[in-house]
This record gives sequence, structure tokens and C-alpha cells, in this order.
Amino acid sequence: MSTRAQQYDAQVLRCERLSAHLVRLTLGGAGLAGFASTGIPDEWVGLVVPGQFQSRYYTVRSWDGTELVVDVVVHETGLVTEWAQLDVVGQTVTITEAKGSFAIPADAQWLILVGDLTALPAMARIADGVQVRTYVFAEVPDELPDYLPAGPQVTWLAPPGAGRSRLAEVVEGIDWPEGEGYFWMAGESAQMRAIRKHLMRVRRLPSMAYDVMGYWRANAQRQPRAVDPGPIYRAGKAAGKSDEQIWAEYDEARDHS
Ligand SMILES: Cc1cc2nc3c(=O)[nH]c(=O)nc-3n(C[C@H](O)[C@H](O)[C@H](O)COP(=O)(O)OP(=O)(O)OC[C@H]3O[C@@H](n4cnc5c(N)ncnc54)[C@H](O)[C@@H]3O)c2cc1C
Repeated sequence: MSTRAQQYDAQVLRCERLSAHLVRLTLGGAGLAGFASTGIPDEWVGLVVPGQFQSRYYTVRSWDGTELVVDVVVHETGLVTEWAQLDVVGQTVTITEAKGSFAIPADAQWLILVGDLTALPAMARIADGVQVRTYVFAEVPDELPDYLPAGPQVTWLAPPGAGRSRLAEVVEGIDWPEGEGYFWMAGESAQMRAIRKHLMRVRRLPSMAYDVMGYWRANAQRQPRAVDPGPIYRAGKAAGKSDEQIWAEYDEARDHS
């Protein structure tokens, strides 16, 4: 069986700057006709921009059957970061089929979402669809008061500096709600590794109770290769591994890419 992901060509229909560090791209065109959402609210696609072979991963902020919206964080330097700030309307990009991993247990009484600006699109989409009491901790450099839907209790946090995060420390200080719930978190990989350890060793959460993903890796230069979380996730699931083992393997693969 082939593990090659489906690919779709799409045109950039619109490009809108939502804030100093966030650019919204609306993609469309006939090439997206076969695209299907997984329905999982943190679903992501690989994005290949013109003239490049490497992909970067972006959350599907929305898909209405015709137009697909992704919100791209523009940071100091990067392949997509630099491209997204050009005049990109009308350009053709390639996206891969969607994959998702959010899996809140049916009996969860609450949901905690933690992330930096790269995780904000997923947190917004998750918060749009859940019925349980939701707490959001968002570490973002920009004022984006209307980005998240009304309903969740939101704590906005300032990052300690450009390209830096202290989410691990934030999570260690969280006052956890009573009862059983679900914890979802995404952001800088080293922070995520620290959090997995905290959830396993200190809070002793079962692996079904949380999902923690490294979305990007702080280092000095352009990343040599993006690692698609999809095949690792599918292979891990097929092998009966826990989400926590799978995401640890994903971090490992990225560290050695
Ligand atoms: C499942 C998944 C979903 C994601 N969803 C989104 C999303 O919706 N929106 C989004 O913007 N990102 C998202 N990301 C993160 C995004 O894929 C990475 O940030 C990616 O590296 C950005 O690519 P780039 O070409 O701009 O920079 P790269 O060329 O990959 O990196 C260049 C340099 O920038 C640094 N860098 C990379 N990302 C950041 C950052 N966010 N802040 C500061 N420095 C950084 C790197 O360490 C490197 O030194 C997601 C990642 C995953 C795995």
C-alpha cells in the first residue's frame, strides 16, 4: 500500500494580514475539487510554495468545500514566512491531504488548550466545535481579541521574546479543573517535550487524556527538512502505540532530520 499523501494544486485567492505576525491565505480553484476534510478540528495539510520542494505544515482553519483557509505565522526567517509576505495572490501552491489528531474522550468534562501563535488556528477551530467547558492559554505576540470564538475562558500570555516560549512553565502552574478532561497543546518542540514529561510523571495522566504536538523547532537556521507527522502517526497507531509515544517519535525524527 502506498503511503504517499494525496496532493492538490490550489491558487491563492486572497491574502490578508490579520496582525503583525499572522497572514491569512485563502486557497481555492479547480485543483481542490478532490480535497476532503477529516473533520478533526486540529487537521493540518502540508504546503509547498512555488519553486520549492520542501513542505511546511499548516492547520486548516476552515474548509467550506470550495475555499481552504490557512493562517500563517510570519516569524524572523523561513521558507513560507518569506514567501507569504510577497505578492502571492494568483500563485499556485500544492497542499497535501489533511490529517488530524485531536481526540477528546466522549466523557470529558472539560478541555484545556495551550499553544503559541502557530497553534492559535487549531485552538480556534477546536473551540468552535466543542461542547465542554474550555480553557485556552494562548502565548501570542499580537493583539488578536476576536480571533477565538466567544465561550472559552481565555488567558492571553506574552511570549518571553521573539521566537521564544515559556509554555512549559505555564502548564506546570495551571490550576487543573476537577474531574476528567482532555488536554491539547502545540507549539515549540522543546517546550512540548518538557510538557509530555510533566503530564506523564507529575500529573500521571493516561495517554488518552492528552495530545501534545511539537509544531516547530527553535534553532538558528532554516530547517533542512520538514517531517510529515502523518505517516509517523499512522504507523504508530497501526503498531498500537500511544499518542505520547508517537509524538515522542515524531520529535525524535525531526531532531534527526
Ligand atoms: C501539525 C502542524 C500544524 C501546524 N499549523 C500551523 C499553522 O496553522 N500556522 C503556522 O504558522 N504554523 C503552523 N505549524 C508550524 C509551521 O509548520 C512551522 O512554524 C514551520 O517551520 C514554518 O515554516 P517556515 O518556512 O516559515 O520556517 P522554516 O524554514 O521552517 O524555519 C526557519 C527558521 O525559523 C524558525 N521557526 C520556525 N517556525 C517558527 C515560529 N513559529 N516562530 C519562530 N521561529 C520559527 C526555525 O527554527 C528556523 O530557524 C504547524 C506545524 C505542524 C507540525
